[in-house]
Amino acid sequence: MKNCILLVFGLLALATAAKLNYTGHKVIRVIPETKEQLEFLRDWESSSEIDFWLLPSSARRFADIRVSPGSYAHVAARLADMKMSHIVHIADVGELERQEQHNMAQRIAIFNGEKAIDVENYHTYEEVMAYLAELANTNPLVSTKVGGTSEEGRDIVQAIISSDLSANKPVHFFDCNIHAREWITAATCVWIIDQITTGYGSDPEITSLVDQYDWKFVPIANPDGYAYTWNTDRNWRKNRLVNNGSTCVGVDANRNFPIGFAGSGSSSDPCSGTYHGIAAFSEREASALRDLIAADRGRVKTAISMHSYSQMFLSPYGYTTDLPAEYPEMFRAMEIAVNALTSTYGTPYTYGNTAVTIYIASGDTTDHYYESEGVVHSYTIELRDSGTYGFQLPPDQIVPTATETWNGLKAMINAI
Ligand SMILES: [Zn+2]
Repeated sequence: MKNCILLVFGLLALATAAKLNYTGHKVIRVIPETKEQLEFLRDWESSSEIDFWLLPSSARRFADIRVSPGSYAHVAARLADMKMSHIVHIADVGELERQEQHNMAQRIAIFNGEKAIDVENYHTYEEVMAYLAELANTNPLVSTKVGGTSEEGRDIVQAIISSDLSANKPVHFFDCNIHAREWITAATCVWIIDQITTGYGSDPEITSLVDQYDWKFVPIANPDGYAYTWNTDRNWRKNRLVNNGSTCVGVDANRNFPIGFAGSGSSSDPCSGTYHGIAAFSEREASALRDLIAADRGRVKTAISMHSYSQMFLSPYGYTTDLPAEYPEMFRAMEIAVNALTSTYGTPYTYGNTAVTIYIASGDTTDHYYESEGVVHSYTIELRDSGTYGFQLPPDQIVPTATETWNGLKAMINAI
């Protein structure tokens, strides 16, 4: 056993050797107090490679910015020029990543193999795909569908859970991990898949939910970006498209949908983390989700896009602060979801329309599902946490995060 653990640590050490090293990188937190300060941060985000982990939609809400040791003095000086002070919120991103590797290795060492996948750990793209393939082979409820293929040749796979596909039941549709570094989102979707597939026939609530609905999940909507976060850069967000005429790689597939395409909250600069791409649906990840949800047109009851972090439940619109016609119904549903979610472990969530509650985000999934596909209950959920670990949420928070989220979703689904 000891040798086995040493081997695991050794392999992880090898695996991390070629990765970008974030030792000494900090995440600083800054609160813009005025419109000018907010505009400054927005312009900075969309015109540079500075890695914003969070950018608020309005003044007096915090922004989180990752800074390298070499750029810290420069960033701090620019903020000071704008009369903004900051605090160091995460002192060493590299240390967080080492802790994450350590925690994952510990989980691997103690996993007893009772389940097909250790739902209390993070998994590579290949591991998640192997899990879905095994489920499809062994569980009569489960099938898979390939929605498209990434630039680097990875399938964008949807897991379908249905007790009777020919019945054309209402569908609950999920996309997860379209932003590569948001690992908790794939883990949450895998956990929910596990809950549904193992609970059917024994858990009355789950049995009823499967008898009434079809459940469809794309656990890793951005496979190339996700693989890149495992192999090279833990903090990568976009896909891995090689942009013509730029040395910067990647498009934000969650800014590549048509509603409000290229508007505020997305960038025309290929070096930005929110680069929207050359045209709506130019990206394989976006067109795969477009085709998968269109295949169920008219029967999608909820469409949920999983993101992290900041603990928010968000409705359309993202591209404008105008409210959608069905906003009262959306607000009612979100309130039910968040009450059930928060009553699980007390995790505080805010909720409301995307553009006001978090930030303007043009060309995102949720506006497309609502506006183009007519899905009223179309939401983005920003999972845990509120910035202590950011994207590197420890694996021991996977089960509580997924449990509270699932409780919120079940309560909402039972009320709409
Ligand atoms: Zn995201």
